Amino acid sequence: MNKELDEQLCQKYPALYRDRNGDKGDTSMCWGFACGDGWHTLIDVISELLTKHDPNICAVQIKQKLGGLCFYHDSGDDYALGVEMTAFTISKTVCEMCGAPGILNNKGGWLSTLCDEHGDQHSAADNRDIDISSVADLRLGAAWSRLCAILKNSAHWHTEHNGRPASTFFINKGKNGRLLIKAFSDDQLTRGMVDIIAGYANRIDEHSGMVIGG
Ligand SMILES: [Zn+2]
Repeated sequence: MNKELDEQLCQKYPALYRDRNGDKGDTSMCWGFACGDGWHTLIDVISELLTKHDPNICAVQIKQKLGGLCFYHDSGDDYALGVEMTAFTISKTVCEMCGAPGILNNKGGWLSTLCDEHGDQHSAADNRDIDISSVADLRLGAAWSRLCAILKNSAHWHTEHNGRPASTFFINKGKNGRLLIKAFSDDQLTRGMVDIIAGYANRIDEHSGMVIGG
């Protein structure tokens, strides 16, 4: 990530990134935000949620791995995990270079999520084919539909494979044009998932998926 965006995040969330210039023997944050600029907004939303949830959380490593954004912290709980795991899934639909909707590209074994402009013809998978049938009745724009489908599909996965309680969601576009999501669940992992989905949705255009003001 470029220096300007790096500094912006560190200034906005000084506690979360207090080890940004730490010793490499102690923290991998010394390597900075080891990913492209296109994920800056997603990292901004993660940072906001984690800081609000627990002001003591400290980021220890942020990097691109297998085409997705890996965000690791020093301690934390199910809420933080819900935010970070879902952010990884979201990132695999967002171009790492520019933030536009992206698909997974495979260049000689190196996976990265890229848009049509930054990627090439050899896509390993097309994330635009995310099954949005579970949210089709909401009549949201394409980008918001993808995000809500990620939420529902992930929640379903955690119920099936991870022993999490089943959740019901109320999803609605408010009069102010913002996406509202309410989970009828006390499960902290689910709360983290909802907050990152709603938080990122409200930073992008409902239809195009482009970052608003970005
Ligand atoms: Zn791009």
